[in-house]
Amino acid sequence: MENQVVIITGGARGIGFGIGTCFARKGAAVVIADVNAEAAQEAAARLDAEGGVRCIGIGCDITNRGHVESMVNEVVARYGRIDVLVNNAGICPFIDVMEMAPDVFVRTIEVNLTAAFHCTQVAARPMIERGQGGRVIFITSLAENVTGPAQVDYGASKGGLRMLMTGFATRLGPHGITCNAIAPGMILTDMTRWHWEQPGPAEEIKRRVPVGRIGTPEDIGHAAVFLASKEAAYINGVSLRVDGGHQAVCV
Ligand code: NDP
Repeated sequence: MENQVVIITGGARGIGFGIGTCFARKGAAVVIADVNAEAAQEAAARLDAEGGVRCIGIGCDITNRGHVESMVNEVVARYGRIDVLVNNAGICPFIDVMEMAPDVFVRTIEVNLTAAFHCTQVAARPMIERGQGGRVIFITSLAENVTGPAQVDYGASKGGLRMLMTGFATRLGPHGITCNAIAPGMILTDMTRWHWEQPGPAEEIKRRVPVGRIGTPEDIGHAAVFLASKEAAYINGVSLRVDGGHQAVCV
């Protein structure tokens, strides 16, 4: 992992930052591509302090194709290569589907699904040209399989993201570029803190998750480092649930 160049979308905080921390501790050069440029640069400085090598933060709205192209060009110009892309950035508006304005639905699909198409297509080109393989990791969710009334847009985007990963796995596999997903369970981040820090839901975690705790961003980071490793070279086109056994429970 040492000196590997790893792009993480939405890596300024939450799960993306946890993934960045795990790669930085292995000596990677982590590129934080986040819509908030200042937060991305601050996060990159913190990753250098964790052991990262020449980490940088780039302001990039991944729904904007031009932003994605400039970000990838900047990374290639600076480091000469891309080893790993982590499609992590995502949103979850959490609005009942019968009350949801159409533009909210469209935006969720744009950020969680269409933007991952842009990032993967654009970042895979220099990986193919270099001819040394690579890794693309998609952060989906348990909502790639199951959903609820206030997560209809989210579930549709994450189910689609799993199939986007599967399709890219077939296209990029012959170039030695593997594509896999990580489906996190309940992870404590700013996206979910409002819910899980209330007394009732916090107790619910202990009841619903066999390992008895909410997940951390680094739980997801460790799985990402494994999928990016040489040892994972024959794993392609799978979605790995990292949820403390949450979805294994049937009652
Ligand atoms: P957070 O909201 O904590 O962090 C998301 C990051 O993505 C923020 O830094 C945000 O920037 C950035 N971002 C949002 N939109 C864009 C965009 N268009 N372009 C670039 N960056 C963007 O979320 P989490 O860390 O909780 O979630 C990360 C991923 O994990 C998401 O895909 C989510 O669906 C998935 N996930 C999360 C779970 C959880 O329990 N937390 C469970 C399952 C999956 P800003 O804040 O400035 O908008």
